[in-house]
Amino acid sequence: MDNQGQTIQQQSKRCRLVLFPLPLQGHINPMIQLANILHHKGFDISIIHTKYNLPNLSEYPHFTVHLIPDGLSETEASTSDIVLLLKLLNEKCVKPFLDCLAQLLSDDADDHIACIITDAIWYFTQAVADNIKIRRIVLRTGSVGSLLAFAALPLFQEKGYLSWKDSEMDAPVVEFPPLKVKDIPSIETCTTEPYQVVLNMVEQTKKASGLIFNTFKELEEPESDKLQEQFLVPTFAIGPFHKYFAASPSSLWTQDRTSLSWLDTQAPKSVIYVSFGSIAEMHEDKLIEVAWGLANSGQPFLWVVRPGLVNGSEWLEILPKEFLEAISRRGYIVKWAPQQEVLSHPSTGGFWTHSGWNSTLESICEGVPMICSPFFGDQKVNSRYVNDIWKVGIKLEKGLDRVQIESAIQKLMVGKEGEDIRKNIMCLKEKLDRCLKPCGSSYQSLENLVDFISSFRPPV
Ligand code: UDP
Repeated sequence: MDNQGQTIQQQSKRCRLVLFPLPLQGHINPMIQLANILHHKGFDISIIHTKYNLPNLSEYPHFTVHLIPDGLSETEASTSDIVLLLKLLNEKCVKPFLDCLAQLLSDDADDHIACIITDAIWYFTQAVADNIKIRRIVLRTGSVGSLLAFAALPLFQEKGYLSWKDSEMDAPVVEFPPLKVKDIPSIETCTTEPYQVVLNMVEQTKKASGLIFNTFKELEEPESDKLQEQFLVPTFAIGPFHKYFAASPSSLWTQDRTSLSWLDTQAPKSVIYVSFGSIAEMHEDKLIEVAWGLANSGQPFLWVVRPGLVNGSEWLEILPKEFLEAISRRGYIVKWAPQQEVLSHPSTGGFWTHSGWNSTLESICEGVPMICSPFFGDQKVNSRYVNDIWKVGIKLEKGLDRVQIESAIQKLMVGKEGEDIRKNIMCLKEKLDRCLKPCGSSYQSLENLVDFISSFRPPV
């Protein structure tokens, strides 16, 4: 980080930004990282957060945090229907958000609130911003490729792909290479209009004043060009956010640091780290397949089994005793890990992931090759890019099956295919390291973003 911050601080009226993270782990982390980046560039930061899923932000005394009621009932807050949850949040937070923002604007004596920065999925905030005549910049926490795929849902629907049979899932989507029909970012929901949340997200993002991505130019250049044709909005690819500073915590769960001491006891690059993120759920049969796939692979593993990974289960009670005996000291299971530190540990040689965008980027940053098991939504698109375009991982094409799992782990960790994949990811990691250096693409894009936001200031 350079001295750009001082230039902004020196001006008489301070420049404040109001950030509004979507309260899900994979969205909170990048927004808090972005807040940190912009704070170091000299902006004052206010965070508006729902009471639902409020992370511990005590390590950020330099932010002011404003809590708003989200109106979710206990049943609504614990639903596993993510689309329904997002729809409800967008309906119930309108008034609390507006009231909070109006209050901040009326307190705006010493600061000037330049704009709001909200998650793309907070689509209702565009109308709020338009009404009170403040600019809204959108943070899209996923990849550019996945936003394009979401934007193409009406086309996929028109071409009939959404009703193709199971036997046709491996066919290519000719209008959208490299996707196959099974990669179309669908999400199961009981809401009557399954795609409305996504379409609202896309439409309201197109109306924003600017669009920030946690990606870097060299990773998604053709996709970024395509995006510019469809979204006529100034766009800033300034990622990967988490590399600007040492791990910045905004975890909703306690990270089990014994994972790191266990990794210390393992051979270099021998361990496969397994985590399916903060939202994915699986049936108990699938958990057993994962367990036996890991045990049969013969490879040491660190496995995050989040309570709630299997709906209705406490934690590990479903796992057979024979499995726990079979793995003995070769496997280590925790509820939640310090993932970035795990990925940068010298013993970690592979990452079996659900292909959430943060996990994918974190893995590329550390040069750790992946096995991909997407569950829903953008994860399917990310895993296709990992497997087919960047060639930095192996996608489990036939789901969670112990024989396939064992074979993929061996291919990745000890096979020739794994060696090639490792070379590819190291090459991508080098590009990534360069993009954050002065004159690198993300560095430059961040400078442009700072200038862009600073141009919203009233004259002093
Ligand atoms: N994460 C973590 N510990 C874990 C598993 C995940 O800290 O045991 C973090 C991970 O580093 C990432 C985020 O949780 O930043 C998950 O985001 P992602 O987009 O990968 O997936 P999501 O949870 O949104 O499905």
